[in-house]
Amino acid sequence: MEIANGIKMLEIPMKLLGRERDIYPTLIWNDNNVILVDAGIPDSLPKIKKAMGKAGVPFKRLNTIIITHQDIDHVGGIRSILNELPQVKIFAHGADKPYIEGEKRWIRLNTNFMNRINNLPEEEKNKVLNLFENSNVQINSTLTDGEELECCGGIMVIHTPGHTPGHICLYHKQSKTLIVGDAMNVIDGQLTGPNKDSTNDKDAQMAYESLKKFEDYDIKNLITYHGGLFNDKPNQKIKELL
Ligand SMILES: [Zn+2]
Repeated sequence: MEIANGIKMLEIPMKLLGRERDIYPTLIWNDNNVILVDAGIPDSLPKIKKAMGKAGVPFKRLNTIIITHQDIDHVGGIRSILNELPQVKIFAHGADKPYIEGEKRWIRLNTNFMNRINNLPEEEKNKVLNLFENSNVQINSTLTDGEELECCGGIMVIHTPGHTPGHICLYHKQSKTLIVGDAMNVIDGQLTGPNKDSTNDKDAQMAYESLKKFEDYDIKNLITYHGGLFNDKPNQKIKELL
């Protein structure tokens, strides 16, 4: 879905953890740069290519991937992209970098999540474990809270820890679009706070606290990775949630 000039929300079907649902990576571009925010899983690649083609942005122009956080449905597709475009630079927050690079064990491989994986049919379980096994990549540049990327009219980095230690959101100034990754969701048309299923209580609380940072931004469009676009007075809805 075209959000404004130079920014599009992609709609990519994804089958993972025994469920089929859409994910919504965001594409931001100008004449010099093409940025993909979050990369899906390896199967997502042909769908991402197709969606980029539809937006009139050839896949081979992609030069940057920004990862909102370390979860495999966000980083799992990077290796297959790098296989075709090794020059693409990968950006993420420093607090998630050691997990993405494989220096630390993926944060989701805790007991709770493993229980969920262990309950899946064998084939699906192996797919997920394989993804964890094969998704580590090197980060070319770390992003910090409050940093502005001078590209595509300016992109602000907002550190929103909770869902993971290095979760970030991005604010595209030109279109007043906030890309929230998994910091928020849209369920049945309603904007909701962070998903508590995959975190402990302390981290879930921190994820909520992080939403306060959004009050500093004038938000026209809000893109969630799992629920898509929300553009019905996002600022007011965030205030109500807090
Ligand atoms: Zn996540």
